[in-house]
Amino acid sequence: MTSPNNDNTATKSEKCPICNAAPANGYAPFCSKRCADVDLHRWLSGRYAIPAADEDDSEGAAGSEENQ
Ligand SMILES: [Zn+2]
Repeated sequence: MTSPNNDNTATKSEKCPICNAAPANGYAPFCSKRCADVDLHRWLSGRYAIPAADEDDSEGAAGSEENQ
């Protein structure tokens, strides 16, 4: 069979999920703290869309929430 390099190029190694670069020691599987930070932010954004939903000081901005 003739099967050229199909998907054995990276040997299924871990790659930075952000930029697909080689992971760095200490930041695996990310390549750098920056990418690790990016992923962290994405993760947080996905779970907590609005991190600042705690402060509810009546500022009269988004009036009437669910308090009739
Ligand atoms: Zn990266």
